[in-house]
Amino acid sequence: MVISCKNESDKTSQNHSENDKTEQKVDSVLALMHLNEKIGQLVQYSGKWNATGPSSTNGDQHKLEKLKKGEVGSMLNITSVASIRETQKIIMEHSRLKIPLIFAYDVIHGYKTIFPIPLGETASWDLEAIKKSSEIAAKESAASGLNWTFAPMIDVSRDARWGRSMEGAGEDPYLNSIVGVTRIQGLQGDDLSSVNTVAACAKHFAGYGFGEAGRDYNTVNIGDNELHNTILPPFKAAAEAGVATFMNSFNDIDGIPATGHKGLQRDILKREWDWKGLVVSDWGSIGEMQAHGYAEDKKHAAEIALNAGSDMDMESYAYEAHLEALLNEKKVTIEQIDDAVKRVLRLKFDMGLFDDPYKYCNEEREKNEVYTPENLAIARDVAKKSIVLLKNENQTLPLLKTVKSIAVIGPLGNDKDTPLGNWRGKGEYNSAISLLEGVKNAVGNTTTINYAKGVDLTIPTLEAGANQFLHPLKFNTTDKSGIAEAVAAAKKSDVVLLAIGENAFQTGEGRSQTNIGFLGLQNELLEAVYKVNKNIVVILMNGRPMDLSRVSEIVPTILECWHLGSETGNAIADVVFGDYNPSGKLPVSFPHHVGQEPLYYNQKNTGRPYSKNHVTFSGYRDAPKAALYPFGFGLSYTTFSYANLKLNTHEIAINGEINLSVEVTNSGDRAGEEVVQLYIRDLVGSLVRPIKELKGFEKLMLQPGETKTVTFTIGSEMLQFYTANKIWEVEPGKFNVWVGGDSTAKLKETFTVK
Ligand code: BGC
Repeated sequence: MVISCKNESDKTSQNHSENDKTEQKVDSVLALMHLNEKIGQLVQYSGKWNATGPSSTNGDQHKLEKLKKGEVGSMLNITSVASIRETQKIIMEHSRLKIPLIFAYDVIHGYKTIFPIPLGETASWDLEAIKKSSEIAAKESAASGLNWTFAPMIDVSRDARWGRSMEGAGEDPYLNSIVGVTRIQGLQGDDLSSVNTVAACAKHFAGYGFGEAGRDYNTVNIGDNELHNTILPPFKAAAEAGVATFMNSFNDIDGIPATGHKGLQRDILKREWDWKGLVVSDWGSIGEMQAHGYAEDKKHAAEIALNAGSDMDMESYAYEAHLEALLNEKKVTIEQIDDAVKRVLRLKFDMGLFDDPYKYCNEEREKNEVYTPENLAIARDVAKKSIVLLKNENQTLPLLKTVKSIAVIGPLGNDKDTPLGNWRGKGEYNSAISLLEGVKNAVGNTTTINYAKGVDLTIPTLEAGANQFLHPLKFNTTDKSGIAEAVAAAKKSDVVLLAIGENAFQTGEGRSQTNIGFLGLQNELLEAVYKVNKNIVVILMNGRPMDLSRVSEIVPTILECWHLGSETGNAIADVVFGDYNPSGKLPVSFPHHVGQEPLYYNQKNTGRPYSKNHVTFSGYRDAPKAALYPFGFGLSYTTFSYANLKLNTHEIAINGEINLSVEVTNSGDRAGEEVVQLYIRDLVGSLVRPIKELKGFEKLMLQPGETKTVTFTIGSEMLQFYTANKIWEVEPGKFNVWVGGDSTAKLKETFTVK
């Protein structure tokens, strides 16, 4: 797949000569470096936790000494201009060669202005909006002194139990590729040396989203077909788009830890794809090869990692301790070390840090360019576009702003923190606009708002605002004292907005769950409210696909609102009151039951896909096989119809192209946007092919009654796959093509590649 940022030819030749100049500079610095300084460039420390050093009592002191000697290449988790400046100063004032540090931080969906979680934002299928949010995340981070973010996560993830589903673009390789590249473009811009951009990082290379049973960090058992056709395409697209860095991952793949995977890092990424960027390990993942049972000790781990092509050691303290001895023992080579160092230096030159190590250190910018009203307005726009209308049976939505009474009920109804989601950068505790606030901002004073929390979702175990990263949540399963008040509020209101779902820290790293339903007492609250008022709009706030089976059985209206960021309440109100017609589509399948996981639309058929008889039934006896809400699905306040799917030919040569056109009509009475989706199936392959694969989409605005013709060009990019010959190629044969508003699209054509 080629989804490139840099495709104009004049730009390319200009890039070549600049690359040559950079290479010369890199070589000239390398020539000056002593071995300890080279190894130092491959070391990354966290500035945040001082208890992680070689000795937990003197971690800080150790880091300081290494900084003074110029034996550190990068720091992560230092997050203010003042402290970045102070840290850079140590290098500049004490070290021999004054090689600037590069400062990294996980800016996953915004720095201080928080955007929807990446999974939610993907539901917008709006590449312009996605790019804009990454641009602002980059601008705010860069204005705060940072140079490098560990985003985007482009792990295809198909198991809702996995807590990190929230961080990526869902279950589809194509969507992960195109959204990933868009995020990279937004973060890096055209020019890494601009003070408004940061280096991006394609992570986690590779397979991390396929952990067995949805458990984080777990073993990944996949073969070559799955690896090449499902997991690697987004990474290949990222490499082709010029992403500056890659991060490897915690999991093993078929017995080889990704961090020590030479086949992935050296053979595929660096040789086959000819990618010149920097591979950073995941946190401590070099050292963790000991726990995997793949390395005898840390020294052995360092040997394996460097040989495999992991360039920078994040927080394992393995390279700094052992690379010199390993070199002397000829277990690693100086060429390998030099190659890794050059990748670090190149990035620093590209960012302009050698010209001015303090170029990102500007207190004025930090004060004036972060969390601005303009950025918040864009966050609201992206948030409203990320909302997915899952059900609107009685056309309850949109509500009139003149509605007499609204009940806002639920543990998340006035929660100002959960909407920020996990990995919220420097988003301040309790800083989001809650649903209740958003509704109040939208309606006039003739509407009565009856608010009742009903139940708490969790029981606080930490101080408000404390770092929740390493702490398990405790759910409220006993205190029902607020339910009566919620019932009373529901009783006296025309409509209920019931805000339920997941706490911000229910998803994210280390947060896998076997139960993807509504935890705590939320089900009891739902049933109690439903008894007295059936006109319920469920406002879902969550970071993963949830089991909505009971909710969708009884509730007429469901709005999927993810964790939408700083402007959550206002964005939801925009949709609830019809100022914005919802246009989001699911980037993941929502199951009937957790037992269906992993669940994804682009599965393969078994040899017995159709028969429903007693013996050969390939589904479940107690649940459907298909999703409750399929991939690509989302409603609008208007309706769309599809007609006249046409191909300009039904037969092409291997390298030929087909033009497809289809007419899409807004058949309702409101203007609205539709995401027109193109799916293809290769009917017979040298390897079993998925029953349907997304290959293109276009989001378009249609006025009531308006028809537009949408066209797609189908060529080898869309038809090829990694075949039994172990190359990417188009195989001759028959193909089906479907166009529609979700992955169950029925409008179909067929063509042949000769
Ligand atoms: C995560 C990465 C993250 C890194 C640095 C790790 O635990 O897996 O995604 O970038 O920490 O914070």
